[in-house]
Amino acid sequence: MKKCLWCFKNENETLFIKKAHTIPKSLGGQNYNQNVCDECNEYFGTKHENIYSIEEALKEGFNITRYRILLSSPNKRKTGGFKSRFFEIKERKGKKSVRYNNSFKFNSNFQKELCRSFKRGLYKMFFEELNRQKNIGYEDNFNFIRNFARYNKGDIPVFYFNRLYGIFMLTENEAATPFLLFDRMKYLFSNKKFQEIEFLGHVFGFPISSYDENEFKEYIEKSLKEKTTFFKDITLIKKFTDIDFIHSIMNK
Ligand SMILES: [Zn+2]
Repeated sequence: MKKCLWCFKNENETLFIKKAHTIPKSLGGQNYNQNVCDECNEYFGTKHENIYSIEEALKEGFNITRYRILLSSPNKRKTGGFKSRFFEIKERKGKKSVRYNNSFKFNSNFQKELCRSFKRGLYKMFFEELNRQKNIGYEDNFNFIRNFARYNKGDIPVFYFNRLYGIFMLTENEAATPFLLFDRMKYLFSNKKFQEIEFLGHVFGFPISSYDENEFKEYIEKSLKEKTTFFKDITLIKKFTDIDFIHSIMNK
C-alpha cells in the first residue's frame, strides 16, 4: 500500500491520483514520484503565505540558468525569450547579469522569503528524487527535511559552491529537460548527514539529518578538499542572488 513520503498518510486516508513531478513540470521535469499524495503535491504548487508557490520559487531561479545555457548551446535551440515574474536579465558589454524587477528591488523581506522558498523547493526536489531512485526516505532522520520543506518549520543551512571555471557537464537536452543524478561528479561529497547535488551546473550542499558541530566541521573540511581543482569558494545561501543562477562564470 502506498504511503506518502511527506505526510505518511496511506491510500485509505488520502488520494494518490495526480502525477507529482519531482522536478517541476514548469522547469521541464519529466519524472514523478508515486509516493507523494495529492494533498502534499498540491501544497508545493500552491501559494500560501507568499505570492508564489514553492515550485514557482524553484522555477524562477533555475529558469534563469536554463535560459543562459540554451542561449550558448551550439545548436542554438530556440529559447522563446526570458520570462520571469521577479527578475530581468541585463546585458552589458556582452556580460549577462540578473536583477530584480523594479517592484521587488528594494523589498528585502520579499528577497529573504523567496530565498527560503527556493531552499525548501530544493529539498523537495532532492528528497522526492532520493526516494524515487534509492527507495529510502521514510526513516525518522528525514523528518528533518519534512519539517522544513513540507511544514515550513525551522531553517536549514544550504551551501553553494562557486566554480573557478565556466565549464561543467551537461547532456544534450539537459537544460530543456533537467534531471538529478546522485554522485554524478567525483567532487561531490556526501555522507550520512550531508549531501551534495549538482543541478544544471550548480553545486549545492546541505544537511539531510540533524548534526552536531563536529560533524558540520568535518563535512565542510572534507567537502572543500574534494573541490580545490574546480571551485573557488563556498557560500552559505542567505539571499537568492547568492546563487549564480546565470552562471556569470560563463562570461569569462
Ligand atoms: Zn501527503
